[in-house]
Amino acid sequence: MVTLITTTAVLKQRRSSETSSVGFVPTMGNLHQGHISLLKEALKNDDVVYLSIFVNPKQFGPNEDFNRYPRTLENDINLINEAAVDFPNSQVFVYAPTDPQEVFPAGMDQTISVQGLGDILEGKIRPGHFDGVATVVWRLFDLVKPQRAYFGLKDFQQYHVIRQMVKDLALPIKIQGMPIVREKTGLALSSRNQYLTSEQKEASLILFRTLSTIKELIISGKSPQDYMRDALKDPNWNYLVLRDTETFSEDITNSKNISILAVYQMGNTRLLDNMQVEVL
Ligand code: AMP
Repeated sequence: MVTLITTTAVLKQRRSSETSSVGFVPTMGNLHQGHISLLKEALKNDDVVYLSIFVNPKQFGPNEDFNRYPRTLENDINLINEAAVDFPNSQVFVYAPTDPQEVFPAGMDQTISVQGLGDILEGKIRPGHFDGVATVVWRLFDLVKPQRAYFGLKDFQQYHVIRQMVKDLALPIKIQGMPIVREKTGLALSSRNQYLTSEQKEASLILFRTLSTIKELIISGKSPQDYMRDALKDPNWNYLVLRDTETFSEDITNSKNISILAVYQMGNTRLLDNMQVEVL
């Protein structure tokens, strides 16, 4: 059963009368099968699932797409209903506040900042982005009070920022990372893919192909450096880097697992992707 909640007062009332294990999936809506994979995992593990739909103004920069970010609540609820059919004994609450003041009431000035990890790569290109993400997730955690929360590894750095925040603040919440859901072509599903023309979508496959080639080179024991140097002649890469998966260190000499992290700029749209490689 899926129930829509649009105010924080109702959310709090609901949560105060609940004792079951609660799973939480925070989203900005415009749901696709990537989001739904998180929801289904939560439905498998938890008695009650909360999914939030909130386009968080704090994580958008001044020249970013906050105003035109797709808001498609009706369609989102349909997708959630479809997914929930397979879990007839579960309850899903969709917390979709229409007024941002429901989440950040006037006078609430707290900012959560995960320094270090929040300032590199995405954080360097989008100053303040991870402060916005950490702050809204902290606030939503406080409202929903889940035992478990689900995040996509598509936003790999975000997943690590949230894990760090949970550790630093000693929050009693288990963070579960979920694999990237991709189109058959390899393009990672993203709400922003709909900004792409069909030509741009086709051209975007360079992202998946490049990451896959780097992964293959590492797996076969070859250095990917020459290939990466050559790839980076294309000015559309915001970044294409290798990092230690656990520490995000640039020094990967002794890494057991390497992450390939990239953002490719396609017109006005930044396409974010990553892959992990176990080093044997
Ligand atoms: P968003 O609505 O973009 O804030 O995303 C909400 C959650 O869905 C985040 O934890 C994302 O990492 C996750 N997510 C988005 N796209 C995908 C995808 N293609 N595969 C898996 N998880 C995803």
